[in-house]
Order: sequence, then C-alpha cells, then structure tokens
Amino acid sequence: MLSVSDTEAIILNLLQPLDNRHDLEVVDLLAAVGRILATPITSNLDFPHWDNSAMDGYAVRYEDVQHASTEQPTVLEIVEEIPAGYQPEYTIQQGQAARIFTGALMPQGADTVVMQEMTYREDNRVCILAAPKPQEFVRYKASFYQAGTQLLPARIKLNAQEIAVLAAAQCPQVSVYRRPRVAILSTGNELVTPDKPLEAGQIVDSNQYALAALVKQSGAEPLMLGIVKDEPIALQEAIAHAIANADIVLSSGGVSVGDYDYIEQILESLGATIHIRAVAMRPGKPLTVATFPNATRPVVYFGLPGNPASVLVTYWRFVHSAIKKLSGVAGGWEASFIKVRSQDELRANGKRETYVWGRLHLIDKAYKFHKACGNDSSGNLINLAQTNAIAMIPVGKTLIFPGEEVLVLPVNN
Ligand code: AMP
Ligand code: MG
Repeated sequence: MLSVSDTEAIILNLLQPLDNRHDLEVVDLLAAVGRILATPITSNLDFPHWDNSAMDGYAVRYEDVQHASTEQPTVLEIVEEIPAGYQPEYTIQQGQAARIFTGALMPQGADTVVMQEMTYREDNRVCILAAPKPQEFVRYKASFYQAGTQLLPARIKLNAQEIAVLAAAQCPQVSVYRRPRVAILSTGNELVTPDKPLEAGQIVDSNQYALAALVKQSGAEPLMLGIVKDEPIALQEAIAHAIANADIVLSSGGVSVGDYDYIEQILESLGATIHIRAVAMRPGKPLTVATFPNATRPVVYFGLPGNPASVLVTYWRFVHSAIKKLSGVAGGWEASFIKVRSQDELRANGKRETYVWGRLHLIDKAYKFHKACGNDSSGNLINLAQTNAIAMIPVGKTLIFPGEEVLVLPVNN
C-alpha cells in the first residue's frame, strides 16, 4: 500500500498543466475573477501616469520652504487651484504655490506638496508652518511601475487585486486558461437521485453533488454524468464516455473488494495503466488512479471510494491539488497543511495516516482545531456539514492530546 505523500507525488506527476497555446479563452475582465492568467501582462502606461499629489495641500518649490517653521512661517502667493482631473496652467515661480488636491496633476515648477494641516491660509496667500522633506507627498510618474516592464506574470490566479491592476492597465479583456473539465459519475445499484422517494435499500446519490460542488470550488467545470448501475457493460460505456469528454474523471464507489466492485477491471479493459490501487490512509484506503496511454488526449481517472466522508477527504487531499496543477497555476499545488493546537483528543489506529474532520476556531488570535461532534464513521455525511479543516494523524501515532500540535489541512478555500 502506498503512503499518502507518495500517492500525492505520483498523482501530481501524472498531470501536466493545460497548454498555453491551445487551452486558452479570452474573457471580459470581470469574468476573469478566479481564472488563471495565460499570458504575462505588460502595460505601455507608466504608473502613476503623471506626477500627482498624494495629499490635499499646496504644491511648492522645496527650496522656497525648506526653512519654514511655526515661529518663522514661509508665506507664498497662491497662483492657482488644481482639483483632481484638471490641467494646471501656471508654472510655479519662486515665492508661489498652487492649492492642490489628492490625485491632482502637479504644476510645472513645483516639486513638493505641503499637507494642508501644516499650513495656514490668508486670502490668496498660504503660510507654511513646517519644512517638508524634499519631494514629499508627490507621486512621481513611473515611480510605481515603468511602462514596458512586466506587470503581471502568467499562471497566477486572478483575484480582485489583479483585476484592479488589469483595469488600470486598460485591459478590458484577458486571456485565461480554459477551466479543466471534470466528469463525475456515481456507481451503485442502491443509488437514486435526490428527487426520488426511497424504496427499501436505496440511498440518495449525494456524492455526485458533493463532487460537482467541490469541482466548482476548485475552479473547474463539472460534467455530471449521473448514476451508473454496478453492471460491467453499463459501467464500461459510461467510463468510455467520461474519458472521451473530460480532462479528469471522478467516479465514486465500486473500487473496494466487494463482488460488485468492477471499476478496476473495466479500466484495464479500456487500456488503462493503473498507478494507484490502495493508499495507507483512513478514510480513503481504496483509491484507484489510472491514465490511458492510448487515448488521444491526456486523462486522469480517480476511482474514489463510495463512502461520503471518504469522497470528501480524498478529494481535499489529492484531487484538489491535481486540478490546481492542471488548471495552469504556476506552482504550490501540494496540499498546504498548517500547524495548530488541537482542542480535543484525536485518536487513530497508528497503522494508516488518519484524517479527522472538524473546524478551525480562532481563540485569542490563534487557530485551534475542534473535532466534529457526532459519529465519525466514513459513512456519516451529516457531521461533515460546517467542517472547514481536516487534521492529519501520522502513521505510528495513536493519540493527539488536547493542547498538542497537529497538522491541519484547511478546506473550502
Ligand atoms: P462502495 O465503495 O461502492 O462499496 O460504497 C461504499 C458505501 O458508500 C456504501 O454504503 C454505499 O452505499 C455508499 N455510497 C456509494 N456511492 C454513493 C453515493 N454516490 N452517494 C452516497 N453514498 C454512496
Ligand atoms: Mg457500490
């Protein structure tokens, strides 16, 4: 059985990021939120585009005011008022100043802004009550960014701050990677869709919805292929269809050792290479990962266990990273654990890497991990609601004491 970290490494090696020639889309700026930038951005604008004031105050020549003080204020003549968005008309000469507002263009001749609070106004004169520093409160042209250099690198996720930069650089449209397509299918004779009344022995196919929601949260496009019976022919057809239409296929159920668990043999009949069959992990031991060397496009198949908690945990631990790498993001694909103290006692059998779900709570400005209440069977979906982290108990450890440090993987972000 493979260790969890070897499994993660094998999975990440099976995936190559989307191609920066073929897998692109051009989208409107606001539609680019959360997408992965495909090409580096360069602007032919300088930032700031003009020398402008960082304060409401007076634009002055530094040499005129360098000795100003409360005892001996420097008195300057105000020749003009410059609100933001206006072009100054005068060149500031010795002994002169312009009233200026934040963001307004600096007038010729002036090199420094004295903030309003350091001045006293008398009609068309201003008394400067303190010497500024040279060039103080002027945002000089190109002091933040020089035209022609790189503004944003490719392969970053576009959040609000990058969208703002793109808007400022006058990019109304952006080239982004297409969303990875992820086919989802649920296997099991006992499964029904959520709208059907339950007959004896039936259960609702919640995994289909869990996985579609997870895939959306990872920035990919779910392709919901529905429920497939535990029948080899139906399964083979459904899986072949999924492989032909997606970059990643996620199935749940049918990967255990039961008599109706057919996934592995069907994958083999479709020419798959099986890279992973079982992982030393709890929940999530029966995990199948396969690729198709003869397929026209690269596809990675994840046969997830059927238990609802196993589906979520294996997705958070492995599939999210896989989608992240495929999506074009430059790096940092591996699951990012943080070290926090556990509020509760956490138990494991010591034989497999164990994941316990719960919540990170902020207590005195530090996160603490609380285990979810209720039955933590991997068949119990109910107490997964409102969890936002999974704590990892390593192989060889059977107990984490309250107050002890534990590695935790935050989820839903
Ligand atoms: P399996 O791996 O197919 O043996 O399924 C393991 C357990 O997970 C069984 O109790 C199934 O009923 C349950 N299960 C399988 N698929 C789903 C699903 N799509 N939604 C909810 N529970 C499921
Ligand atoms: Mg089953």
